[in-house]
Amino acid sequence: MRNGEVSYWWQRHGIGARRPALPGSTEADVCIVGAGFTGLWTAYYLKRADPALRIVMLEANFAGYGASGRNGGWVTSALPGSRARYARHPRGQDGVRDLEQHLRDTVDEVARVCAAEGIDAGLVKGGELSVATSAAQDARLRHRLEEERAWGDGPGIVRYLEGRELAGRLRVQGAVGALYSPHCARVQPADLVAGLAGVVAAAGVRLYEATPVTSISLGLARTPAGDVRAPYILRCTEGFTADIPGQHRTLLPMNSAMIVTGPLSDEAWQRIGWDGCETLGDEAHAYIYAQRTADGRIALGGRGIPYRFGSGIDHDGAIAPSTIAQLGRILRRMFPAATPVGLEHAWCGVLGVPRDWCATVTLDTRAGLGWAGGYTGHGVAASNLAGRTLADLVRAVPSTLTTLPWVGHRSPRWEPEPARWAGVHGLYALYRAADRLEGAGRSDRTSVLAKAGDLISGIPH
Ligand SMILES: Cc1cc2nc3c(=O)[nH]c(=O)nc-3n(C[C@H](O)[C@H](O)[C@H](O)COP(=O)(O)OP(=O)(O)OC[C@H]3O[C@@H](n4cnc5c(N)ncnc54)[C@H](O)[C@@H]3O)c2cc1C
Repeated sequence: MRNGEVSYWWQRHGIGARRPALPGSTEADVCIVGAGFTGLWTAYYLKRADPALRIVMLEANFAGYGASGRNGGWVTSALPGSRARYARHPRGQDGVRDLEQHLRDTVDEVARVCAAEGIDAGLVKGGELSVATSAAQDARLRHRLEEERAWGDGPGIVRYLEGRELAGRLRVQGAVGALYSPHCARVQPADLVAGLAGVVAAAGVRLYEATPVTSISLGLARTPAGDVRAPYILRCTEGFTADIPGQHRTLLPMNSAMIVTGPLSDEAWQRIGWDGCETLGDEAHAYIYAQRTADGRIALGGRGIPYRFGSGIDHDGAIAPSTIAQLGRILRRMFPAATPVGLEHAWCGVLGVPRDWCATVTLDTRAGLGWAGGYTGHGVAASNLAGRTLADLVRAVPSTLTTLPWVGHRSPRWEPEPARWAGVHGLYALYRAADRLEGAGRSDRTSVLAKAGDLISGIPH
């Protein structure tokens, strides 16, 4: 059983030698801080649009070291934020629908780039299943479906599957129904981020690894190896943003943990189904997310320890034994047929959560400072759309992307410690208690404990 080592995905892909660090002070047209999906997609689209652009990327560790190489591998079109909050933008509800349509198209755009650039990341667009395993969860699913319909989303976007139809796809113990959306793909995230980094570097982007940026200011990114001067500096550090001077309360580094089983036997897969490789989540308050991997395993993630005091970060993805045990129990409960193969690897990572749970893509044109992130766990596809948008903003080209309601969105700052730590831990204590009550009871009512948690945290619905 391996713990940490960045992630199973990276161990499977292989972590090669680091690219060289910044050799000394230099100049560029655009300087991108952080080489995860956001930074890499931005560089990719900038370079394609203008091959002459001098782009420098500065990465503290190695490209894909962060959430981009550790995630659940859902290329999901889920909105990284609240419809109601984005609808306060001058474009109102139409702007939100436009953003959602762009996110759906983005799933295909990621697949298109993989095919065009020869990135084999095991991408399969099998859609997304959200299963209910209690009466209360099922009631929430049906309520969500009503909301989708009220927003004008028809069955081509999301539909309800009764227990029997669900079982024809995938047999989850205790599942009573599910919502299904076709707009999601499964991917091996380290293969995707490593492939993308290779493409970007081959296109002439100067990608420096082992080069932490210690401060960002007007036209200047500072590192121990030297300074980079550029008219545009783009901060693409999502869950790591709190470490950058002046950004301590901008994005909360929310922790998420994953486990992966050994390879399942053909007989086990026959019992489970899952031939369509749909991504799988549940409707619990402390929800899980899972995929059938390209190499025949189940990878399953959940919250674990939600947040470390003072916006602390894990050490290369190492996680607490209690979290492994907790996720293992959920896995065995949902998939008894997977029990015999056991677990082979566990790891964690941080994703960025803004105080109002709404992602942003912003460029302050006067200062030349840009940033994108805060995808609240829905960043794999959203970072592609954000990267394309940042590229258009930097190049100042008229575009349908630059008027989307998350562009220029400003979130409030997080509370200082210890309120931040107490709030997040209190929220998850309430959520876990609510899940236990809902799982034990027959009522189809959402527990008041979860409602209290939503109210305190401002989590949108
Ligand atoms: C366990 C887990 C599961 C997830 N599952 C999913 C999922 O299934 N689907 C989904 O859509 N989203 C998921 N997410 C969220 C998604 O992975 C992220 O939103 C997305 O990868 C963010 O990409 P990014 O490039 O903005 O940030 P990151 O990938 O975190 O990249 C930031 C980079 O910046 C570097 N960096 C940090 N500080 C500095 C500095 N000072 N100087 C230079 N470089 C720096 C880091 O080393 C890192 O490489 C998950 C996240 C986690 C942690």
